[in-house]
Amino acid sequence: MLTSIAGRAVVVTGASKGIGKGIARVFARHGARVMVVSRTLAEAQACAAELGNGARACAADVSDWAACQAMAAATVEAFGGIDILCANAGVFPQTKIESMDPAEWDEVMATNLKGSFLTVKACLPHLKKSDQARVVLTSSITGPITGFPGWTHYGASKAGQLGFMRTACIELANFGITINAVLPGNIVTEGLADLGADYLETMAASIPLKRLGSVDDVGNAALFLASAEAAYITGQTIVVDGGQVQPESLEALNA
Ligand code: NAP
Repeated sequence: MLTSIAGRAVVVTGASKGIGKGIARVFARHGARVMVVSRTLAEAQACAAELGNGARACAADVSDWAACQAMAAATVEAFGGIDILCANAGVFPQTKIESMDPAEWDEVMATNLKGSFLTVKACLPHLKKSDQARVVLTSSITGPITGFPGWTHYGASKAGQLGFMRTACIELANFGITINAVLPGNIVTEGLADLGADYLETMAASIPLKRLGSVDDVGNAALFLASAEAAYITGQTIVVDGGQVQPESLEALNA
């Protein structure tokens, strides 16, 4: 049993659906007050209403510095401060190098990598005032550990988040703030479903635990990293993938 995080003020970006919504739901279930952030206000509001427990909503594009500042200000106005930032917003268009428009590369980097930097920077002045401040990034196994055709930009952005984290953890430690990352494998979300039934079926078969992950699986890992019990853990990663990256071959998987 972790020490209660009831009453803590949490910002979750990309929380209107998918993994972000799962993270938001786990925190709200444990009594935290959650600011649900996405670019589409109506969807963020619908999610906040579903979460209850005083959850609020705000529209922000994490690749936009002014929007990130407004997001942080709205959270402070609503909850009086920020204790936990879950920088989760991300996009994963799948395009091979030969056909990728350079603008698509920039868009993925702007949301996934620069967005992590901008949201941390915008929340930092407020996190500094919290006595138990936490940052949890949503990275991925794709990039830091594995590769998949069509995701050169995505993999680079997700590996880049960890490079950002390893230096940020030293800077943030000066303020008593920890920063860690969850690395989901294949988690059932609206975004993943768009990749098609064949993809989902083949993926599930390649995972030792023989199922895709749930958004709660990721939310629970984020909750631990945000807990009092994780106070001495910073600059680290937790892979949440049902063992997907472990088998060294198909033979190992099926032996
Ligand atoms: P998803 O279902 O497509 O949801 C993405 C969320 O992010 C939505 O709320 C979306 O709302 C928001 N968003 C997208 N771009 C944004 C921006 N520029 N500013 C603010 N919000 C933005 O995606 P998901 O599968 O849950 O993925 C969430 C995170 O987990 C991503 O960082 C992804 O890389 C990571 N991840 C996912 C998986 C997986 O299997 N699903 C695996 C590994 C890592 P709007 O479009 O309204 O803004």
